[in-house]
Amino acid sequence: MSEKFDVIVVGAGPAGYVAAIRCAQLGFNTACVDKWENKEGKQSLGGTCLNVGCIPSKALLDSSEKVEQAEHEFANHGISVGKVKVDVEKMIARKDEIVNNLTGGVAMLFKANKITSLHGHGKLLKDKQVEVSSKDGTKVYSADNIILACGSEPINIPVAEVDNELILDNAGALDINEVPKKLGVIGAGVIGLELGSVWNRLGADVTILEAMDTFLAPVDKQLAREAQRTFTKGQGLDIKLGAMVTGTKLSKKSVEVTYTFKGEEHTATFDKLIVAVGRKPSTQDIAAQDVGLALDERGRIDVDDQLRTNIPGVYAVGDAVKGPMLAHKGSEEGVAAAEIIAGQKPHVNHDTVPWVIYTHPEIAWVGINEEQAKEQGLNYKTGFFPFAANGRSLAMNEKGGRVKMIADAETDRVLGVHILGPNASELISEAVLAMEYSASTEDIARTIHGHPTLSEAMHEAALAVDGRALHKVN
Ligand code: NAD
Repeated sequence: MSEKFDVIVVGAGPAGYVAAIRCAQLGFNTACVDKWENKEGKQSLGGTCLNVGCIPSKALLDSSEKVEQAEHEFANHGISVGKVKVDVEKMIARKDEIVNNLTGGVAMLFKANKITSLHGHGKLLKDKQVEVSSKDGTKVYSADNIILACGSEPINIPVAEVDNELILDNAGALDINEVPKKLGVIGAGVIGLELGSVWNRLGADVTILEAMDTFLAPVDKQLAREAQRTFTKGQGLDIKLGAMVTGTKLSKKSVEVTYTFKGEEHTATFDKLIVAVGRKPSTQDIAAQDVGLALDERGRIDVDDQLRTNIPGVYAVGDAVKGPMLAHKGSEEGVAAAEIIAGQKPHVNHDTVPWVIYTHPEIAWVGINEEQAKEQGLNYKTGFFPFAANGRSLAMNEKGGRVKMIADAETDRVLGVHILGPNASELISEAVLAMEYSASTEDIARTIHGHPTLSEAMHEAALAVDGRALHKVN
């Protein structure tokens, strides 16, 4: 007889470990399987987000931002620090310590919640069984309910095969121990821009090759244009749009990249090349053939609105299912799956999932942008407010960016909020909450915002929808 649990969660990323905790809170005898190992070969919970994604990249973004400020910002405040010296190894070690703290924190939470942590690759078998295989062998467990939270992995392109020596994926790009002189990045998406910014601030000469002609296609056009100007003219990132990489040639210490740009073939040589062309669901080996687990055309596990797969008692959440590949979306689905198993009626509102890009300034948005409002033929109105007219922002020496609000012209209901500016990642929560409550811009305009705060830009953008912003000419 295999050991039996009420719930087995496969994957301990932000979707899976949160699902396991919620299951335990709801009184289920829960196990969570994960195969991730750290550099020392020990199990490390938290998935991509904690190990090689959100957390380590934000640690390096913060460190590199401090370098940038010391080199270029302090003087504006009347502070001189002389030549700034950067110890990249120490920076990487600090990042690793943060990762260890947080992954260890998940292990502690598992212990405190009496969750059984199983180490190895989890695979769904018939009859709600899960096979866990590791270097120590293979064992089979069973459960009344199973939650698959197997996440995603970087897409590899044959023209630039990752070796994590010269051609790096997102994990390799977080472990470079000296600043490359010339760094190439394939893909001007979220990862390309964030990691490109880190190494650019630390002194690398960064070129980003982006196949699409549009910069940050999902972002509101007005904001994307301003962001592009800031990143290129202001910060020196060389972003080539419409640049299609066709091949790479490795030599001992550099990589030569060929790409087509404006109809011509070009070559460029880099010390390191980061590939950031998107991610795909990690579903290749998640279920035995005879289980018949249904995947969609993009290899994601097919789920209904209740996160149910086609196999009774088996749920799936996070990057492995439809919707944006974002940690917070996965976590919400993890909670929802646990509550559905417990007979509750949770709901994950995909229309109010916020997006954040941690560049400087940050970009954050929720809901639809103006182009989408046009495409959908909506009768809408907009209002914006620039951070250049916000007192707190100026006090912080942050002069760029804006808040832009889109609302239904008749009902005034908020349809989308887009922020390019300081702390956009934090400011967007107000917009998410407003949209969750189906607020109107009038609701936000009538809400008292502290002074002096960046959030006043949100207040003013709401006023601007009605042509009555107080600190700008409408
Ligand atoms: P992405 O989809 O954001 O961007 C990939 C970019 O690469 C696209 O612009 C695409 O046009 C371009 N591209 C694809 N093939 C190319 C080629 N052959 N040559 C040149 N350009 C090419 O993907 P990403 O940046 O790799 O991020 C992956 C996922 O991770 C995203 O879905 C994102 O949701 C998630 N993520 C989120 C955050 C965050 O929330 N801040 C941070 C990192 C990653």
